[in-house]
Amino acid sequence: MPDAPHAPRPSLPPPPDPAPTGSPGASAATQAWARMRQAHFHDYPPAAAACWLAITLAGLVAGGWALMQVAASPATWPMTLLAVAAAAIASSHPVRIPRSKFSLSTADLCTYVALATLGPAAAILAAGADGALGTARATTRLTSRVATPAAAMAAAGLAGLAHQGSITLLAGGLGEAGALMAALGVAALVLFIGTTLPLVSMMAIKRGQTVSLGDWITGYGWVGAMMQAAALTAGFVVLNARIFGAGLVVAAGVLLAASALLLRISLARQEAEQAAQEAQLSLARREAEINQQRFTAAFTHAAVGMAIVGEDRRTLQVNLSLAQLLGAAEAELIGIEFERLLHADDVPLLERLIRDIANRPDQAFSVQLRCQRSDGQELWVTLHCSRFQDPGAALALPTSTGTAATGPANGAVASADKRCVIYQLHDITSRHLAEQRLQHIAYHDSLTDLANRACFTERLMIAVQRQRDDADARFAVMFLDLDRFKIVNDSLGHQAGNELLCEVAQRLRASVRPRDLVARLGGDEFAVLCEALSDPTQAHQVAARVGAALSLPLSVRGTEVVPGASIGITLSDLQERSVDDVLRDADLAMYEAKAAGRGRVVVFDASMHERIADRLALEADLRHAIGEGKLSAAFQPIFELGERRLVGLETLARWEHPSRGAIPPAVFIKLAEESGHIAAVTRWVIDHAVAQLAQWRHEQPRHAGLYIAVNLSGRDLTDATLVPHVQAVLAKHALPAAQLALEITETTLMGHLDTAVSSLHALRCLGVRLSIDDFGTGYSSLAYLSTLPFDCLKIDRSFVIGMASGAQNVEIVRTVLQLGHTLGKVVVAEGIETAEQLQQLQQLGVDCGQGYLLARPLGPQAARELLMAAAPMREPAPAH
Ligand code: C2E
Ligand code: CA
Ligand code: CA
Repeated sequence: MPDAPHAPRPSLPPPPDPAPTGSPGASAATQAWARMRQAHFHDYPPAAAACWLAITLAGLVAGGWALMQVAASPATWPMTLLAVAAAAIASSHPVRIPRSKFSLSTADLCTYVALATLGPAAAILAAGADGALGTARATTRLTSRVATPAAAMAAAGLAGLAHQGSITLLAGGLGEAGALMAALGVAALVLFIGTTLPLVSMMAIKRGQTVSLGDWITGYGWVGAMMQAAALTAGFVVLNARIFGAGLVVAAGVLLAASALLLRISLARQEAEQAAQEAQLSLARREAEINQQRFTAAFTHAAVGMAIVGEDRRTLQVNLSLAQLLGAAEAELIGIEFERLLHADDVPLLERLIRDIANRPDQAFSVQLRCQRSDGQELWVTLHCSRFQDPGAALALPTSTGTAATGPANGAVASADKRCVIYQLHDITSRHLAEQRLQHIAYHDSLTDLANRACFTERLMIAVQRQRDDADARFAVMFLDLDRFKIVNDSLGHQAGNELLCEVAQRLRASVRPRDLVARLGGDEFAVLCEALSDPTQAHQVAARVGAALSLPLSVRGTEVVPGASIGITLSDLQERSVDDVLRDADLAMYEAKAAGRGRVVVFDASMHERIADRLALEADLRHAIGEGKLSAAFQPIFELGERRLVGLETLARWEHPSRGAIPPAVFIKLAEESGHIAAVTRWVIDHAVAQLAQWRHEQPRHAGLYIAVNLSGRDLTDATLVPHVQAVLAKHALPAAQLALEITETTLMGHLDTAVSSLHALRCLGVRLSIDDFGTGYSSLAYLSTLPFDCLKIDRSFVIGMASGAQNVEIVRTVLQLGHTLGKVVVAEGIETAEQLQQLQQLGVDCGQGYLLARPLGPQAARELLMAAAPMREPAPAH
């Protein structure tokens, strides 16, 4: 039987024990009833309780009658027991109808079979068992557990009566089978009414409702239908059993039970699946709700500015922080194109980034850009953008704080499932400005505000890379070294030096093209990076403009100064080079420009590398040669021209390179000067010359009056140890100072006048002879020379050679000779190669001379032999 309605579980806990009535006369029965009422009937109004009692009594009467009937005929016991057991089993295994609170069981079938075959008593007991077990499953409430089987038994009793009456009435007209079927139908109707109506009525009374026939039919009509179907089935089973035997009932029972079991399993599974689905759905709904709430709270109260922007780029929703950030009201920001909030220059950047993420899996990016506040102020923000599929846009969000577009009025309502973006904006203006300041400091020279080395190197790196990718992206690097910065700095002071550098920086900026980068690399070194060169001549033009700008004088602290610069250029058209290579090449070209005579522009070419490498190797060899005493000396005799008597010897340094052969002194002396080794060379030559002369004097005392000449270089005159060294060497070999002559070329002298004078006087004080070498080539002021402590003028070889070709050179020699004699100096002619030259010089009255005609520079042994052969000096050398 389908589950009969039963009283629902109490929604409220039972009220507390009523206070004991206290009446001493209250009977125990009354008290028991009170307790029972409180436990089971607390929600039963009296009418409902009476109804319950009536049903229960009717059930007891029917059940009692049935038990008596069965007890009276023991032969029916087994079958009756079987029917009751079958009903009980069927009732305990009902088939629940999914998505309803009802169950079907085949217990009814047992009741009808029992009625038709065993009579009303068995039917009553089967219906009772069915009701008792069915209710026990459905409720724990005692009242229901009693009322339901009671109603079933009472109804089964009435159904039994109706069944027997119907058979008696109809047997004649319908025949035995027809009467059975009809009687079972009537019994099913009575059973349906008897089981449902009293209980439904009781429940209605209990709830204070009126019983509605319509509600009963619509609520339980299907139960009646099922019961009719069960009765019909039972009729067929019974009739067939009469024809085919009781075995059929058993077989049908087994079949039915199996079908019911299958149905039960299948429906139970369906129900479980459905329940799981529903649980999942409700969990998902709950989660969505929570997420929505969280998002709303996060969006509304976020400290960062947030905006949701629809596919049409218009804002759907903004929060208070964004409004505050942009200095606008939230409502003003709704429905407008988001790009309007940005700095116009940054809009293309944002648009590009949004396009870019469309195909990326993360669908998000962060960027720093500028916003425009409503008061026109510029703001730097970090903007984080993420795209999302908006399942209904902002429709459901509140507008109080997190303001959203609603309604079609502002034309910004999102339709469901649109691609939206959410922007988060974080104000970084102050950080950005601080970073910019730091960046400026890191990349600029504090004195001139030009780019510094770091900045220049970085930009050059980009230019080098760009040219690697695109051969047409030519560039040029220019290196500048100021020609007169050191003079200004040393003579006018640091401050003046700084003023000069600032002025130079300004002129550089004014002479380059707008996109060229000017940098100060340090000290007085500047560099220019010229990019986007269509052809190399552009770089030459820039260099020419720079050179011209720096050749104009400026006034520093009242002194007029021409800054002047040597410029080296390297062009990117050479083979691929690293940044360091490019810088080195520009530097090399600059050194060449300086060496070529300052104020020049030199473009780098690959041969410079070879020259430099060669020079470096030779320099290293020279250093070793000096250290290992591999230098040697030659001695060129100097004669008094009148009587061709030997008066002295000039020491000339020699270097025999192990692989390159003899290196001319003009080369290695210059190299030693440039690499800082000249002091060592000079000291060695002085030591060697003095020792050699001392030895010869010792061997041949008749030549005691000979002097030995040694050449000094410009740097020697600035060497503070020169004078004490000379003094010490002379003392060591006991050579009179007058036997040593030191030669300084006129050009060297003019270049080092400021520092040379004190050294010259100190040497003169020692008693050393001093000669001006290569006289006539330095265009020195003779008047000035007369103030210097020289003993001797050596007329340069070029004038001696030139005497043969014209009278002019003879005149020069005569003039120098006269001037020398007027000043009281000895005059020596160099490079006498021919007898004519000798004769002319003798006729002019030149005191002394040297040259290949008289003697070549000689090795020590040859010089010694010459001394031995030479006539002894009659008197000291002409200078003294
Ligand atoms: P200098 O001081 O004018 O030396 C004379 C140079 O003229 C020597 O060249 C000598 O060999 C050369 N000479 C002498 N007579 C004749 C001649 O008749 N015809 C020609 N054509 N040349 C003649 P050298 O030895 O090659 O020296 C070149 C220069 O190197 C020297 O010129 C001198 O300035 C410098 N020098 C040589 N040794 C030293 C040294 O120890 N220290 C320094 N500081 N300079 C040195
Ligand atoms: Ca000389
Ligand atoms: Ca000379």
